[in-house]
Amino acid sequence: MNIIPELPANKIIKLLKRKEISVEEIVLAQFKRIDEVEDKVKAFISLNKEEAINEAKMWDKKIHEDKKIPPLCGIPIAIKDNICVKNEKTTCGSRILENFSPPYSATVIDKVKNAGCIIIGKTNMDEFAMGSSTENSSFYVTRNPWNPETIPGGSSGGSAASVASGEVTLALGSDTGGSIRQPAALCGIVGMKPTYGRVSRYGLVAFASSLDQIGPLTKDVTDCALLLQVISGKDNKDSTSIDRPVPKYLEYLIPDLQGIKVGLPKEYFVTGIEKEVKESVLQAAKVLEDLGAKVEETSLPHTEYAVATYYLIATAEASSNLARYDGVKYGYRTKEKTNMIDMYKKTRKEGFGDEVKRRIMLGTYVLSKGYYENYYGKALRVRTLIKRDFEKAFEKFDVLLTPTSPTVAFKIGEKIDDPLKMYLSDIFTISANLAGIPGISIPCGFGQNNLPVGLQILGRPFEEETILRVAYAYEQSTEWRKRKPEI
Ligand code: GLN
Repeated sequence: MNIIPELPANKIIKLLKRKEISVEEIVLAQFKRIDEVEDKVKAFISLNKEEAINEAKMWDKKIHEDKKIPPLCGIPIAIKDNICVKNEKTTCGSRILENFSPPYSATVIDKVKNAGCIIIGKTNMDEFAMGSSTENSSFYVTRNPWNPETIPGGSSGGSAASVASGEVTLALGSDTGGSIRQPAALCGIVGMKPTYGRVSRYGLVAFASSLDQIGPLTKDVTDCALLLQVISGKDNKDSTSIDRPVPKYLEYLIPDLQGIKVGLPKEYFVTGIEKEVKESVLQAAKVLEDLGAKVEETSLPHTEYAVATYYLIATAEASSNLARYDGVKYGYRTKEKTNMIDMYKKTRKEGFGDEVKRRIMLGTYVLSKGYYENYYGKALRVRTLIKRDFEKAFEKFDVLLTPTSPTVAFKIGEKIDDPLKMYLSDIFTISANLAGIPGISIPCGFGQNNLPVGLQILGRPFEEETILRVAYAYEQSTEWRKRKPEI
């Protein structure tokens, strides 16, 4: 049973179908692994052991009665703590929601449960998903399983670290500017941001509503396809989810890339990128060529404006979304007896951390009368230009290949006092959110200090299957996924 923490879901399911293992054994093996490493990793905010074991027993009974097994039956999953699970604490990594338990579950939670997944716990994150290192969590810093002195990336750092360390098989995260792909890259696993509208956001605590998207963090590309299949589709509870058929993603996983055109945007291989990162990605492009793809350089000319545009739009939307935390409707309220206005102020002062306050102030400023047109209005226009760059590139190319992050995992504390440096961690991931397009990060090598490097593959809207195909072909012809952190 001690091999369970090393296996992807697609292998565990086979064991289960052959009745070589029970769901209870799978779940117990994961909790044993959690007991062994969680002190070092600190991926979780809360664990769900009792209920997980009860559910495991329930599935075992159904299997025994020869009932039909759903696609992810018995697979342990971790949930980022900004995704609502009914009656379970959902903190968003924030003191202001420290004791908040939602009265309903997110649509993705209903979906993974119906598919047979067992929720193991809720994972640590940067407060309200604002950050790139999980250092902005109000509780503690999650550590990178490859080197506990380095950050796991963020904001879905807890989800990424829980999968990379073998504490769970699958995880869900959210990606507003890179928060699935960047931690996946830094922890050496697979992470996908689907097209905006592919997956319901109902029950995801909003950060920047026009950018947020829920997606999978997994050990390999096959698991990513399996989990994406389960969570995708129109949801009447989210008017931004789109009614388009969901392809059968597994059918696209073939080890050959004949006819696929790959673009290398030259703007992604310049400033600030570590030499080893660049080399690994260019090497990956060669592997794709060997597999039959045609690779050519291309250009996304407005790339240099992406970070600035993102920090105007994301903060504007956040300032509006976070207005609801006032000590009345949700979570924490100041203990000081005072009048109403003061109560709002003190609650927010005590409940929010520095980064969240910085963003609320910036967002309020860019939306203010007199500045709105100059900042927010202009950012929206640049967003359109960035989107058009992609549309043009995708007339010629099926996918674009870039690094996910300019660097490998950095040391805890290294960038925390320099927000601008921290913001640049997402320089390669942010544009996809602004344009609404899907992207994946998969392992493509090891850089400085033997830390993992991520390869980003971006695709046309609602063409996740093409991204998965390219990712799968690359993964199968390389050995990276076989290396595991020694923790
Ligand atoms: N790191 C980016 C930010 O701080 C992206 C976060 C995210 O995708 N949630 O906003």
